Amino acid sequence: MKLYLDPGHGGSDPGAQGNGLDEKDITLDIALRIRNLLNNNYKDADVRMSRTGDSSVSLDERTNEANAWGADYFLSIHCNAFNGDAQGYEDYIHSSLSDSSKTAEYRDVMHEEVTKVNRLRDRGKKKANFHVLRESVMPAMLSENGFITNDHDAALMRDASWRQTVAQGHVNGLERAFGLKPKEESDVLYKVIAGSFQSRKNAEQRADYLKSKGIEAFVSPATISGEQWYRVQAGAFSKRKNAEQRLEKVRNAGIKDAYILKEGKGADSGGGSDGYAIKGKTFLSPELMDQFVKEVNADAIKIGIHYLIFGEYYGIRGDVAFAQAMHETDYLRFTGVVQPEQNNFCGLGATGPDNPGASFDTPREGVLAHIQHLFAYATTDSLPDKYPLVDPRFDLVARGSAPTWVKLNGKWAVPGDNYGQSILKLYERMLTSSIEQFQQLKQKIT
Ligand SMILES: [Zn+2]
Repeated sequence: MKLYLDPGHGGSDPGAQGNGLDEKDITLDIALRIRNLLNNNYKDADVRMSRTGDSSVSLDERTNEANAWGADYFLSIHCNAFNGDAQGYEDYIHSSLSDSSKTAEYRDVMHEEVTKVNRLRDRGKKKANFHVLRESVMPAMLSENGFITNDHDAALMRDASWRQTVAQGHVNGLERAFGLKPKEESDVLYKVIAGSFQSRKNAEQRADYLKSKGIEAFVSPATISGEQWYRVQAGAFSKRKNAEQRLEKVRNAGIKDAYILKEGKGADSGGGSDGYAIKGKTFLSPELMDQFVKEVNADAIKIGIHYLIFGEYYGIRGDVAFAQAMHETDYLRFTGVVQPEQNNFCGLGATGPDNPGASFDTPREGVLAHIQHLFAYATTDSLPDKYPLVDPRFDLVARGSAPTWVKLNGKWAVPGDNYGQSILKLYERMLTSSIEQFQQLKQKIT
C-alpha cells in the first residue's frame, strides 16, 4: 500500500498560529511519527512524504507528486484555528463524494480510530473543496487535529506523548482500512506506555504510582526527535490483545493518557534505530530473575545478582542477558552439551558433544564471561578494567558487530535464524511473570 503523507504547510507558510505554536511544526511531527510507526511495524506500507523538514512545498507540488507516484491514499495532517473557544478534532473528504464512496468508507474507519485515542472533542466527519482533496486522484482525507488557538488543545499539542498517540490513531485506522500486515509477531512488541515525560523525576513518580496500584512499571529513556524523554512502560507483549488488557488496567488506575506503542524490534527503545539494544540499563531485580527460573526449575541456583552487577558495570542489559542464559541452559537444567559444573551459562565455545566449551571456576565468573562476551559484540570500546578478562573468546569477536539482540542471529548460535527473537520472547515472559509476582506479593501484604 502506497501512502502519500502530507504534513500541512511548512517553510515560509507556518499555517495556523496560536499559544506560541506554529501549525507546520505540529503537523510535521505527527506525520513523521506516523511514518515511523508504519515503517517499523508493517510489512507492506510504503510511505512518501510531501516534506520531511521545514520546507516550503506548494499545494500543486503535493498533489502532482502523489498523482505521479500513483499513491493509494493521500493523507493530509493539519491543525485548526479559530477563536479561543472552538476546540476538537474533525476530518474532511472532498465535497463531491457520497457517504457510500470508497473514500468515505476509509474515512469512517480513520475517524473511528483517531477519535478513539486523541482525547479531543469530536466535531464530526466533514466535507470540503480543499485543493489536496480535489486535485489528488486517489482517495484522500485531511485531518484537523485540534485547535491551536484553544488552550486545552494547544496544551495537548505541546505534549510529545499526545502527538505520538494521535499518530498511532491514524496508523490504527490505516491498518484497518487497508488491511496492512504487521511484521511477524516475533518482530513486534506491544508496549503499554503510561505517560512520557521530559523530567525523569516525574516519570519515576508515575512509575511509583502505578506500582502502588499493583501494576509493575519502569522508566525507559527514549530519544524522540533529538529530545530526551522518559517513558513509563507498564508491560510489553507480543500479542496486542494482552497489551490491550494491560492498557485497560492502567487506565482504570487513573492513567487516562496511557497508550499502546507498537514497536518493531528493529527499532526499539534504548537503541534508537539500532534495534532492541544489548547495551542499556537492567530493569528487573535479581530476585525477580531468580524467582522466574524457580517456577520452571525449582533446583536452579541463584545467579540474578551477578547479571545485575556485571550488567550495570559494563552497561549491558543484564536482565536480557539472563534471559539468554535461560535460553542457552534450558532454565539452568543444562539439557544440552554444557554441564552444570562448567558454569558456562551462554554456551561459550560449545560446538557439540566433543567440545562442550569453556569452564569457569564459579557461577560468578561464568556470568562475568557472558557479559564480557556481550560487551565484545555490542561495542567497539575497550573493556573497562575493574574485573579481569575471563571470556576466553573475547578477542575472536568481530567487535561491535551485534549492537542488538537480533543481530546475534547466526553469530552466537549457528544457524540461529531466530536466536535473538527467542531471547527477547523469553525476556518478555520474564516481564509478564515479574508483574504477576508483584501482584501476588501485594495481595499477601494487603
Ligand atoms: Zn492547515
